[in-house]
Amino acid sequence: MKLDLLVVDALVVNPFQPPVRADVGIHEGRIVSVSTTVDRPPARRTVDAQGRPLLPGVIDPHVHTGYVTPDQPERELATETAHGVLGGVTSFVKMERSFDDYDYLDELIPKYQENSLVDFAIHLTLMTEEQLSSVARYADHFGVSSFKFFMGRRDPEPGSMVKRGVDDGYLLEGFDRVAELGGTALVHAENQDIIWRMRRQWREQGRGDDQLASWSLTSPSIAEAENIQRAGMFARQTGCPLYVVHLSSAAGLAAVRDAAARGTTIHAETCAHYLTHTQDSEAGYLAKVNPPVRTSVDNDGLWQGLADAGVTCMGSDHGAKPLELKGLDGSIWDAAAGFPNMMHTLPVLLSEGVGKGRLDLRRVAELTAGWPARIFGLTDRGAIAPGMCADLMLLDLELEKTVSAQWHRSGAPYSIYEGVTFRGWPVLTVARGELVMEDGEILPRSGPARYLRRAVGTRGR
Ligand SMILES: [Zn+2]
Repeated sequence: MKLDLLVVDALVVNPFQPPVRADVGIHEGRIVSVSTTVDRPPARRTVDAQGRPLLPGVIDPHVHTGYVTPDQPERELATETAHGVLGGVTSFVKMERSFDDYDYLDELIPKYQENSLVDFAIHLTLMTEEQLSSVARYADHFGVSSFKFFMGRRDPEPGSMVKRGVDDGYLLEGFDRVAELGGTALVHAENQDIIWRMRRQWREQGRGDDQLASWSLTSPSIAEAENIQRAGMFARQTGCPLYVVHLSSAAGLAAVRDAAARGTTIHAETCAHYLTHTQDSEAGYLAKVNPPVRTSVDNDGLWQGLADAGVTCMGSDHGAKPLELKGLDGSIWDAAAGFPNMMHTLPVLLSEGVGKGRLDLRRVAELTAGWPARIFGLTDRGAIAPGMCADLMLLDLELEKTVSAQWHRSGAPYSIYEGVTFRGWPVLTVARGELVMEDGEILPRSGPARYLRRAVGTRGR
């Protein structure tokens, strides 16, 4: 047999185990061998890793699309996954959010597949009564095992993402339903009562209208910590595994640790910007996001969490908001929140984490692949081993590249990391056995991406 691809002399870095120097054989989209012997089977293409690290590709568990081309949301998958592939992303989980029944996905998922460079699963956001009562049907029909809740979105304030209805009763019942089918509940933890009161006051007083910091200071970290504590209690009560998306504060992390210590099955995800940006960032409005970027104390706390597994996943919360919506010459209150980010997770971890002695490569593999695969049931991904899907990235830890929207491939023509040089990038991204990126060039796929159905089953409680 002639292999499709053979990567020789790689430092194979897997999550949850020590690295090993080996050759990795790939055939028909699967890893077929991880070999430490000198016998090298013939292959159509051989890549000499020269001892550089080979890791499972990044699984980004938190991606939004549909902002650049809202009328054709599928088109954006092409640009945004190219952006991700430059940062080693080989699969992702897309957040779906709608007030409608999710039946429309029957038509949309195949279109996503046509446009995406890499395979993907979806999370469904639950916001209406109809959706809540359809959880079991969605799980069965779409193979979805993870459901997202916005906490406390009772108040239809300007800018609120959810209509009246997602109150604590909804949340508790939702967790119960998700637990029943063996799924995981995701929460956006940001106490809306605290935030909207402060924002109303600040706006009325015309206070800090042109400052990114105003967005941050009006969502104090107590708003995140309190919601996590409450969600943790509901999760414990219902036996529902809990996943806190985009953890942004040291206080929030303390609440995660506290819930875990009380026996809650809880995972926290943070994002690159919460490690690198503060409310005083030069990126200004571009870095407006929910929850907000905060202080260097929060940056440091979250780095500590990544190192000691208080935080288990990295997500990008990618959202390519068009530049005109970022409201650069208006007030901070009206600017759109979110930015393109899928490419940055890995270089931030390598440059600021590994490069500065905060993390080792094995931990990077856990944060970007091992844990997301485990938590979200992507059972044949997240590790380099025979039989696993051949999703890989070869890293050059010495390579320096300066981020620019000129080359980042996103449909949003700006970056919160514009002009920032990171040391440590993928030089090769392999998705399901195919080279999709080599030395910064995006390569065409031979067929559509796969939609990843996930197993759900009734779990004894
Ligand atoms: Zn998000």
